[in-house]
Amino acid sequence: MASQLDNSVYTRIDDITQRILAGGEMSADEGRWMIRLDDDYLPWLMASADRIRKTFRGNEIEVCAIANVRSGNCSENCSFCSQSGHHKTQAPAYDYIPADELVAQAKKAREWGASDFGVVSKGWGVRSDKEEGKLEEYFAALDDGSDIGRCASLGALTKDSAGKLKAMGMENYHHNLECAESFFDQVCTTHTYQENIDTINHARDAGLRVCAGGILGMGESLDQRIEMAETLRQLQVESVPLNFLSPVLGTPMGTRTPMSPQEILRAIATYRFMLPQAEIRIAGGRQFLGDMQSMIFMAGASGVMIGDYLTTKGRGVEDDLKMIKDLKLDVRGNTQQRRQQDSTEAA
Ligand code: SF4
Repeated sequence: MASQLDNSVYTRIDDITQRILAGGEMSADEGRWMIRLDDDYLPWLMASADRIRKTFRGNEIEVCAIANVRSGNCSENCSFCSQSGHHKTQAPAYDYIPADELVAQAKKAREWGASDFGVVSKGWGVRSDKEEGKLEEYFAALDDGSDIGRCASLGALTKDSAGKLKAMGMENYHHNLECAESFFDQVCTTHTYQENIDTINHARDAGLRVCAGGILGMGESLDQRIEMAETLRQLQVESVPLNFLSPVLGTPMGTRTPMSPQEILRAIATYRFMLPQAEIRIAGGRQFLGDMQSMIFMAGASGVMIGDYLTTKGRGVEDDLKMIKDLKLDVRGNTQQRRQQDSTEAA
């Protein structure tokens, strides 16, 4: 039997799209409506999100990669994370990898076309001389050995540690909110949501580009997905990584049901409407899209993480690059341009 489609839904999507293209915003109420739309309306929603992406982010896709430089036995109890020392998982545990190994990974990522490379360490901030010394060594080695953008994800920052990392040569700081504030007590109790917000503000104040998003599918409500988007909008985050929970056995979220492809695509599209100018980059959990992975860009994503994730394997890099090429999108390789722009602005 034919579906009963409601014309007013199409009209409302179009009206919101026009407002955003004219420089306006989508309200949180509209976001809560949009993220609940039936699958029937998903193609229309995606077409509109695609138009917003093209208008504000162009035809280029930003590609980044990460290295997990220190893994396992983390002091924090994040419920989704296989690296937490509070959960019993099979995640690898090791101390800092050698700097030359890191540079080799960064060079490989640059060859793939990645514009940015993240140094990711378990733990909650840069707290000891040992950590500081190691990061200094890493950033000096990356500066000498590669022209790739230097990012890091190291947990909470203080004003002091943000300044020190900037002085070491770090350019971007990644720190996820993880979820909405109203859901955070289900995710972590060893640190606070306010510490996440303070970290983002300290990074920005130190002159670092901020990359902050979260993980969807942890059991939060649809309203809480919009709540996180609103917080990111208020914080004026430029780059928003979206992950979709990959349940890991042994963690408190190990038996959650992964999001469906349609739910993932609707969330990406709604985030594009909420954050029209942001770099929305898709990271962990892409595998749940199955054969629909290339649709992330039509749903409004403008970036993607390639290679392996922290403790899970990514899709083949060749497949990802071919996917971007087949869609007639370009990989953005703008690290040098960005640095020149920064030094011009600073002069
Ligand atoms: S998400 Fe980060 S801080 Fe939380 S347990 Fe995992 S490694 Fe530690």
